[in-house]
Amino acid sequence: ELPTVDDDAEIDAAGDEVDFGPVPVVAVVGRPNVGKSTLVNRIIGRRQAVVEDVAGVTRDRVAYDAEWLGRRFTVVDTGGWEPDARDRAAAIAAQAEIAVATADVVIFVVDAVVGPTDVDEAAVKMLRRGAKPVLLVGNKVDNTALESEVAALWSLGLGEPYPISALHGRGSGDLLDAVLKAMPIPAPTGPAGPRGPRRVALVGRPNVGKSSLLNRLAREERAVVDSVAGTTVDPVDSLVEIGGETWQLVDTAGLRKRVGRASGTEYYASLRTSAAVEAAEVVVMLLDASEPISEQDQRILSMVAEAGRALVIAFNKWDLVDADRRYYLDKEIERELKRIPWALRVNISALTGRAVDKLAPALRTALASWEQRIPTGVLNQWLTALVQATPHPVRGGRAPRVLFSTQAGTKPPKFVLFTTGPIDAGYQRFIARKLREEFGFVGSPIEVSVRAKK
Ligand code: GDP
Ligand code: GDP
Repeated sequence: ELPTVDDDAEIDAAGDEVDFGPVPVVAVVGRPNVGKSTLVNRIIGRRQAVVEDVAGVTRDRVAYDAEWLGRRFTVVDTGGWEPDARDRAAAIAAQAEIAVATADVVIFVVDAVVGPTDVDEAAVKMLRRGAKPVLLVGNKVDNTALESEVAALWSLGLGEPYPISALHGRGSGDLLDAVLKAMPIPAPTGPAGPRGPRRVALVGRPNVGKSSLLNRLAREERAVVDSVAGTTVDPVDSLVEIGGETWQLVDTAGLRKRVGRASGTEYYASLRTSAAVEAAEVVVMLLDASEPISEQDQRILSMVAEAGRALVIAFNKWDLVDADRRYYLDKEIERELKRIPWALRVNISALTGRAVDKLAPALRTALASWEQRIPTGVLNQWLTALVQATPHPVRGGRAPRVLFSTQAGTKPPKFVLFTTGPIDAGYQRFIARKLREEFGFVGSPIEVSVRAKK
């Protein structure tokens, strides 16, 4: 039984540490190049090292664990969202809207040296519509002389701007103090011990049955209570019971209401999907088992895999699958899903409720893989035997050697191979495949990168 927000407040008052409960989400938004990523790096203290040379994996993870004055929160870098949009202003506005929908506090970053632009003003309009607290930041204030520039940002009508230099750290402490104060729920303290509900994103193209599945799961849904105002707020996420455990389904408001004026556009839908995926730990990707796997399905699948989240593929509408369709579906799966042979599969029917109880065990398995850690000793014993049995092919009379490996991180598992020189992509894939064969990681992507000795 998980505590409600009100229970947290009581524990707080009793002086105990609150190690669980919802972790507030802080979204950093703004137009490109204002310094959002730099600010996010500043906030997380660059603890999450970015692994650069991972083939096929996007550079930034977007959602990071952060801490200030012992309070834990999640910070979301929205930096990767805009470049392919034709209409920049609209794209930024959409981004701001999603941030407002999914975050507890928004940090709106403006380039103080450039001053407020039309695009900034478009974003402000959207930010205002949401009921979330917005902190206005004037970035690139690298010295006192530049501080006067920040006054121009008052014109945006978001109150007092915070002058900072994300690059040098100026003013970032004051900003983080303000972020903590602005949080509608107190950020949990202490180590991430017993945690709150696991975050699940329910994604898939239109009409695969997302809302139907949500409705089936949400019978046990509880209202999310705003502890400050004591009122029920419009819940963006839903807490649902699946398999006797509470799960947090992220951004279900989008599934229910099909919100937003631009909600019809595929661009907007994909932004919203990627925001939900980034906010989640594990993704349930719905496919319509009664129809061929489409290009749109493939696009969503690639996005989920690249985001590095644990994944369960749910073939919905199984009630419509007969022996004939089954035959073709098996062939399609073989052909279309071969890039992600590690994904867990369940065959469900949101309509009849068939096998919906298989979801919880699948989610647990995928998450366990996602957080799995292989001890260095075990890893290297295995690796030594592998590279002895199958060394790197000789190229021009030389063959680089794989010296050892370490697991650099989890969520998903990340491995670094230390080598005497650059290795073939094919050999790197071979090692990744063998890693899986040995250690499993069912339901989770893994990342394998190489550090070559110079
Ligand atoms: P994003 O596109 O908003 O994520 O922006 P980035 O974080 O990638 O930063 C864009 C550019 O602005 C980079 O060249 C940064 O080094 C630079 N930048 C970011 N913050 C500051 C700052 O506080 N001062 C100065 N002078 N440059 C900054
Ligand atoms: P969404 O757009 O992904 O949210 O999909 P909906 O939940 O709105 O479902 C689209 C249509 O598929 C509706 O007519 C549903 O009744 C139908 N549907 C959803 N799940 C199932 C299922 O398991 N079996 C069958 N036969 N129809 C389903």
